[in-house]
Amino acid sequence: PASGRVRLISGNWKMNLNHLEAIALVQKLYHLLRPEDFRYAEVGIHPPFTALRSLQLTFEADRMPFTLGAQNCSDEAAGAYTGEVSAPMLAKLGVGYVIVGHSERRRLFHETSELVARKALAVQQAGMHPIVCIGESAQERAAGMTQEVLTAQLSPVLESYPVGAIDGVVIAYEPVWAIGAGEAADPDAVGEITRAIRAFVSERLGEAVGARIRIQYGGSVNVGNARAFMTLDDVDGLLVGGASLDPDAFALLIKSA
Ligand code: PGA
Repeated sequence: PASGRVRLISGNWKMNLNHLEAIALVQKLYHLLRPEDFRYAEVGIHPPFTALRSLQLTFEADRMPFTLGAQNCSDEAAGAYTGEVSAPMLAKLGVGYVIVGHSERRRLFHETSELVARKALAVQQAGMHPIVCIGESAQERAAGMTQEVLTAQLSPVLESYPVGAIDGVVIAYEPVWAIGAGEAADPDAVGEITRAIRAFVSERLGEAVGARIRIQYGGSVNVGNARAFMTLDDVDGLLVGGASLDPDAFALLIKSA
């Protein structure tokens, strides 16, 4: 791409598919894709934790050029945190990208933007890239607060992340009202909002960083609308939920993008 930014299409499976179903899905998906589809964009697969090891071995054994991703991690590296999984553990499994601050985690698990920033930092320190999700709710949008909400969610990350590594951060703009809704946001509006997000990063950290940081769109992305988002100047990739659970649909989506 003219921007020099490597495109990234990520499939977020959420709490779906056991490890056997996960292997079957990536095998099917891989056979539907051609080598040139992987040259267009890096393709990330974010299964539940329980399938990471199986997919790591499957990718290795069959030389599948997918990048392994996770959906969350602890902000702590190790210790007495029952039920948590740390960033170094994920790095050891060959994970490249970790989603942090997905709206479901903010809403259902009460994650604050400060915690999300600490998780992003933990991901970076373990040698991986965070995909930092930001997005306004329907109410916030109706109240005309979109820009404020996005900058408030992003600021703790920009303030605490090491400046030299910040272009390794991926920002996923996901309007909460468009997630799982069946209807995506309007591409023109997403074009404007992602331009404003990039401008905000440039203003805080300089033009060079702003020009390099990658921004994804997420929220009801499907075969029919993927291309419209990918052709926006400030959108470098997609974060795909539902459509990534169907190998036929996801393969077509990657080709159409
Ligand atoms: P969706 O989910 O594509 O099913 O709307 C996107 C996401 O939550 O990342």
